[in-house]
Amino acid sequence: MVILVIALGGIILSGVIINVALNRGFQNYLAQIESARQKQAVTALTEFYQENHGWGDFPLPLNMRQNPFFGNLLYVTDQNGQVVFFPRRADIMGLNQNSLITYPIMVNRIRVGTAYFSRSPLQSILSEQDEFFRRTINGSIFWSFLITGLISLVVAVIFAKRLSTPITAINQTAKSMTAGNLDVRVSNLPKDELGELGNSLNQLAARLKEVDTLRKDMTANVAHDLRTPLATVKSHLEGMIDTVIPPSTENLESLLEEIHRLIVLVEDLQAIASADANISQFIKKRPVELGSFLGDIVKKMTPLFQGKGVELIREGVPELAINTDQNALTKIIVNLLSNAYKFTPSSKRVFLSAALIESDILITVRDEGIGIAATDLPFIFERFYRTDQSRNRESGGFGLGLTIVKELVGALGGTIEATSTPGEGSAFTVRLPIA
Ligand code: ADP
Repeated sequence: MVILVIALGGIILSGVIINVALNRGFQNYLAQIESARQKQAVTALTEFYQENHGWGDFPLPLNMRQNPFFGNLLYVTDQNGQVVFFPRRADIMGLNQNSLITYPIMVNRIRVGTAYFSRSPLQSILSEQDEFFRRTINGSIFWSFLITGLISLVVAVIFAKRLSTPITAINQTAKSMTAGNLDVRVSNLPKDELGELGNSLNQLAARLKEVDTLRKDMTANVAHDLRTPLATVKSHLEGMIDTVIPPSTENLESLLEEIHRLIVLVEDLQAIASADANISQFIKKRPVELGSFLGDIVKKMTPLFQGKGVELIREGVPELAINTDQNALTKIIVNLLSNAYKFTPSSKRVFLSAALIESDILITVRDEGIGIAATDLPFIFERFYRTDQSRNRESGGFGLGLTIVKELVGALGGTIEATSTPGEGSAFTVRLPIA
């Protein structure tokens, strides 16, 4: 509709403007022609007077009468107002003097007569041409109106279809998504802004689906992870009440261990919840001396590693300060070292190193542990993801540690990558900007 209105409105407007301009131009043109003719007629009359030394015999000679410039000359009077010449045999008595155009005929600065011209004849002749011209122009305008109307109708229909088809599809998809169907996608998208909008909607649907799955998985996982220690505690306590299980220190300690597992789970969940609630706002960056910082962590964790017979080695660390949140970075390193500790058998080694690459610092935790299968590697940072080996182990966590690590690294403006060879070991590299 808009295209049609603009196209046809443009033609109507130019039609009106052409008509108005034509009218004005033609009137001016007519006036100019007429006044030129009248001046030529007056010149001819003046020359005639000079040649004859007066108006001479009446009527004028034939050749003079047929002068083409006399087209609208009605009559001529001498200096006394006597008519000396009327070439068109008009009824000069009935003429309204006011409607006539008069020109003085001057010879040697003396007025020897007056020429009277009518306004009408030339004007009406030319007006007919004007009318014809105008009709031709208006005819052309009419045809261009019709043709442009048809062309813009076709273009508008094609354009509207191209525009409305994806919009309708996007709209329907959005409605389906609102109704809860997150599997819908917009297809056959054009390669333009609408196509981009459709793609964004598809990505949104995929992301929502992911979040939805994550939420469902998370609830199921939390329920599962709560059930196991609770069931153990329950059965142990029931056994003790029924005096089937003696409340020995050993049994009570194993109960305490289960409760400790529950506390760890709750703490991990809390860490994830606060990470979800925009962790960046809790980040407070300060310069951290990398060498002494990593040294402190190694010093604190060495007893744990020694207890298992795993060697914890700090490799060359550049002496420089990086601007970061010390608490967050401590959690990241401790989590990675705890994993390395968990999955590395005794008499093997774990390395902590740092290197400066361009304007980033790369901190690596490498172990000679059991490694991670290539099929598991892409998923280890996801919530509750554990490899089978880990699930089967008593020491296995809840699969939240690396999720927290990744969130924290992201909040510090960095990235984390993992590489691993099953049976040989794994390496986790955190890349952080120095500034
Ligand atoms: P969890 O708290 O269970 O350790 P994480 O999120 O920290 O969970 O790790 C996810 C999984 O990735 C672990 O269950 C384990 O299977 C694997 N993983 C993590 N770090 C290592 C490592 N250093 N060596 C071998 N496997 C690892």
